[in-house]
Parts: sequence; structure tokens; C-alpha cells
Amino acid sequence: MTTTINENSHPALVGSLRPASPSVKLINFSPGPTSLPKAVEDEIAASFQKPGLTSLALSHRSPEFLDILNHVTSSVRRIMEIPDDYEVLFTHGGGHGQFAAVPLNLCHNTSDVATYIVNGTWTERASEEAQRYCTVQAIDGRDPQTGGYTTFPELKEEDIDPKSKYVFLCSNETVNGVELHRLPRLPESRREIPLVIDASSDFTTKPIDWHADGVGVLFACASKNIGHPGVTLTIVRKDLLGKDKASPFCPGVFNYTTNVEADNLWNTAATFNIEVVSFLMDWLEREGGVAENERRSIAKSRILYDVIDNSDGFYSTPVQDKKLRSRMNIPFNIKGGDEKLTEEFLIQSWNEGIVGLRTLTPFGVGDYLRASLYNAITEEDAAALADFMQQFASKYSA
Ligand SMILES: *Cc1c(COP(=O)(O)O)cnc(C)c1O
Repeated sequence: MTTTINENSHPALVGSLRPASPSVKLINFSPGPTSLPKAVEDEIAASFQKPGLTSLALSHRSPEFLDILNHVTSSVRRIMEIPDDYEVLFTHGGGHGQFAAVPLNLCHNTSDVATYIVNGTWTERASEEAQRYCTVQAIDGRDPQTGGYTTFPELKEEDIDPKSKYVFLCSNETVNGVELHRLPRLPESRREIPLVIDASSDFTTKPIDWHADGVGVLFACASKNIGHPGVTLTIVRKDLLGKDKASPFCPGVFNYTTNVEADNLWNTAATFNIEVVSFLMDWLEREGGVAENERRSIAKSRILYDVIDNSDGFYSTPVQDKKLRSRMNIPFNIKGGDEKLTEEFLIQSWNEGIVGLRTLTPFGVGDYLRASLYNAITEEDAAALADFMQQFASKYSA
């Protein structure tokens, strides 16, 4: 698709999130940053109406903020069933910060080896960043037939260097729509190698079996499912800590051990962003936790995949293997990427308040539109998009 984006483009075509009519109900399918559940957004607003200081103005060392920090840390532990031999950190620098922090903490020298399973945009980006700090051995996760990022490779013993400090993978490739609904197990002889998981776009939507899955580090930038940009949840197994293990060049702000020793307060914590994560976790627990969240994710995504699969080819989605289809991000195109129809679709849906299906990314507008179904999207919201898609298809499929 060769969409030319210029200043005369219709706002819907350049990713505007503000439809012309302010009265339509907005449904935000953006891949991130994105909306939070209505109840959480209301709670944030209410926190500004209460007497006293908001978390924007709280010193990170005040007892009031320490209450927030302790509360959210224990909520995350309980909800995600994180065992005691893991530390929970609120880190700076987003997902990209962790792309650097992981090798800087787990590799002492640049000659230390790390294995990266590259099966999409984000693992590609993570492995490129890691090359500055360690010796990356990449497992090519492209579909051998098409060369596309639509699959996840079989993990073979001979492809994983036993000297690897860790094996890196992304549990949901946000751009490509490839998700591991459960974490994979390394081959028996490689089980001792810790897994590092980029769970930025699927955290809280399925259970994690921390010990059995061999998770060493897991991180999730907040801006997809659990909060606003500006803070990242990073969970580290304690045996991987130790100042002598990290690279001597690891900045203090990225150093897991430094931050654990300082109880998450080595430097100024992102106080407000952390409270937002706290609100989200409280909401999640009230709603039924991870099990209910997974049920919702399956239901929301199924509504849309069903429309795509039953459209006689009017819509298509790149990932054919249903076991790997993302429940979070659903890429789809219209009549094989027909440019005029795609523009028509974007403008009409935008007019109805359906926004965020196309975002301009550093990787271009992409070949596909994408519906992201994070925690703010309800089953009714997904059904509203499905209805729109069906009506559009019946109007234009002739
Ligand atoms: C969004 C995203 C990132 C990037 O996070 P930033 O906070 O923008 O650095 C990394 N990995 C995945 C899987 C993502 O979805």
C-alpha cells in the first residue's frame, strides 16, 4: 500500500484520535499509548478533586507515596502470582530502556552471548539495541515461505548457545499481531538459561508460570495495558542480581541491583504514573483478575477474527496459525490493501468515533490497519467495530 501522507490528508488518514463531531462515543483502538478502563480514568480524575496533594506533587520519599508504592507492589505480586524470589521494580525509559538495561545487567562483557528470538518488529529492535552491549545470536523467526513476521520458530537445542546469559523473546509482537498465549519452554538441555520476556503489550491478560517457565526478567512498559507512558514494570529473579554481574557501564538508573537495594527509590520515582498503575491493578482485581481478563481478551479478539475469517476475503489478517494470533492487536487489511477503500474505511469509522486503527509509526503506516484490544476495550466496544466492519463489507464487497 503506497499511501502518501501530507498536510492535506484527511485527519483520519494521519491517525487523528479526535473525530469531527465531539458528541460521538469514542472507542480508542490505538496500539499505545491508549485509554484506560473508564472506571480507572474516573478514579484518576477524582484524585484531583480530593483535598490534599495529588501524586503529581507527592515527594517520592513521603509516607503517602510509600503507601502507594507498597500497595501497588503487593497488588501486582498478588494478581500476577509473582513468587518471592522475584523483585518488582518500576523503571524509567520505557520498553526501549529495557532493551538496553537487560544486556547491561545480565552481561558483564560485550563478549557475553545472548540469544534473541526475532519474530517481529519489537524483537528486531531489541536485538539491534542489545548488539551494542553483548554478543547477540539471533534465531530468525520469519516464516520461511513468505519471509514475513507471522509465526514463532521451533526452539531447537542447536540454535541456543549453552553459554547464553539469557534467551530473549516477546510474548506479544504488537505490530505484527503474533502472540504466545503461553510462554514456550526451552529444550531440556537449555532450561537453566533464564528467559527474558518483553510483555509490554500483553501483561495482565494471561497467567505466567514464573518458575516452570524459567522467567528471569519480564518487563512491560505501562502505556499499553497497565497505565500511562513514563513508567515500566520490570520483574527480576533475585539470583540474577549482583553488582558484579552487570556491565561496569550500566547506568545506575538502569541497574537492577542498585534499584532493588534502594527499594525502588534510587532516584525520583514516576509518582503519578505509578499511582495510575495502582488504580489499574485495583480495578483488575475487582473485575476478577487475570483469569477473567484472559476470558475477555479471548472473547474480544474472537469477535473480530470471526468477521475477518467470514468475510470471503474482503478482510484479511496476516497470521494464519490461530494458536499464534494475537488477542491484543489484530492487524487486518481491506480487499488486499486497496488504498481507496482503506481510506474510505478510516474516514467513515473515524466519523463514528472508532479511532486509532491507523497510527503513524517509525516503521511507516504499515500494510495493515490494526485494532488493539487492551484493558480499556470492552466486549461491547469490540462488537461495535465488528458491526461496522460487517456493514462496510456488505456495502463495498460487490
Ligand atoms: C510499545 C512496545 C515497546 C516500546 O516501548 P516504549 O515504552 O515505547 O519504549 C516495546 N515492546 C513492545 C512489545 C511494545 O509493544
